[in-house]
Amino acid sequence: MENDENLAEELKSQGVHVTSFEQLINWGRSSSLWPLQFGLACCAIEMISATMAKYDMARFGAEVFRPSPRQADLMLIAGTVTKKMAPQVVRLYNQMAEPKYVIAMGACAISGGPFKEGYNVLKGIDRYIPVDVFIPGCPPRPEALLEGLMTLQDIIKKEKLLGKDRARHADPKGYAELPVPEYGAHDLEPKCNPDVWSPPTVEKGGEGQ
Ligand code: SF4
Repeated sequence: MENDENLAEELKSQGVHVTSFEQLINWGRSSSLWPLQFGLACCAIEMISATMAKYDMARFGAEVFRPSPRQADLMLIAGTVTKKMAPQVVRLYNQMAEPKYVIAMGACAISGGPFKEGYNVLKGIDRYIPVDVFIPGCPPRPEALLEGLMTLQDIIKKEKLLGKDRARHADPKGYAELPVPEYGAHDLEPKCNPDVWSPPTVEKGGEGQ
């Protein structure tokens, strides 16, 4: 593989560009992300700002916000996810076609943020859907969103479409639809989806505690 890369570099210096089908597909996908158009709270204002002339998200091919999940491949969770809203977010995710990606923008989407202890706020949307990029901040500035978008582009460009390390969407055994939580007697049920969320185990009583 190293020799192949050297050969590709040498050919490039002579004006000959070679690529693979996989690189071509990943380049196309990473350069034309279509976000789903919805915002959940104040972070959405920064998201909207990122699409305006000053920050110009169009430079990254990602300015075409779609009003329907069936036409979008990027879910931008921008704002507070209440427990009442969480089932709708999962339902919208299920309605998006593969390959699809998720960016969690802001402290609320990542962990509940300032409302973490609130009875009505979810402590992170990654409990129910797989998140590709987390952008911390309250709110993150538009530049941070652009940085997150470029990070996602890098992830997509490295995706494998074949073999055992292939991307989730290229794996026929990958999940097709995620279970939608319901609001039970006291909380969302189930409290998380163990297929997408596995928190680290915290052991109490260790050294330094
Ligand atoms: S992280 Fe801060 S700015 Fe963003 S939705 Fe939550 S409270 Fe609002």
